[in-house]
Amino acid sequence: MKTLKIGDNIWMLSLGGVDSNIYVVDGCMLVDTGTGLRAKELDSALKEAGVSHDEITSIVNTHGHFDHLGGNVLFESATVLAHDLCADVIENADNMKSYAHWFGGSLKKRGCVRLKDKDIVRANDTTLDVIHAPGHSDGSICLFDKKSGVLFAGDVIFKNGYGRTDLSGGDGAKLRHTLRKLSQFEVNKILPGHGEIIEDGSAHIRTTIDVIRA
Ligand SMILES: [Zn+2]
Repeated sequence: MKTLKIGDNIWMLSLGGVDSNIYVVDGCMLVDTGTGLRAKELDSALKEAGVSHDEITSIVNTHGHFDHLGGNVLFESATVLAHDLCADVIENADNMKSYAHWFGGSLKKRGCVRLKDKDIVRANDTTLDVIHAPGHSDGSICLFDKKSGVLFAGDVIFKNGYGRTDLSGGDGAKLRHTLRKLSQFEVNKILPGHGEIIEDGSAHIRTTIDVIRA
């Protein structure tokens, strides 16, 4: 388990194993929640980040895979937000499309606020732009903090490559299009869904477009 403070308002929680990175934004919002199968580790990580369970009032899921949203169940009173196409997975507890069985878990049906491209989500003083980012899955989104240039990327782009496109709703051509779209933004840091933070955001996006297979 590793916790890392990023700027003034973001903590990165890495529980290890197959769990996605979890980001705490401005002490009240989570971007993704991991599998939820490491509840104790998540508790300790939140403590290190100086927040308690009750302070988490909203969760934004970057996409509908179990390693990113299985942990939603640990925050029953929080409002869940996700892209329209990902919301179906959450509301129907779609264990097939979320690949819950790969992780030995299962989803519970959950209400969800449906997001679309160009929506804005708020966490206390932080404002994040929603960018629809299909390719790894049809309902993938990125979140962009214009002020700091921080991009929450989900499984779109990693330090050593990009998200796989062979799962349900995945599409290589769409992923390349998404990266072109992301290259229009002045990205400073990329906070990916797995692995390490990327410091040279925009340059890394441009390099990755060149290597993508579609
Ligand atoms: Zn994924």
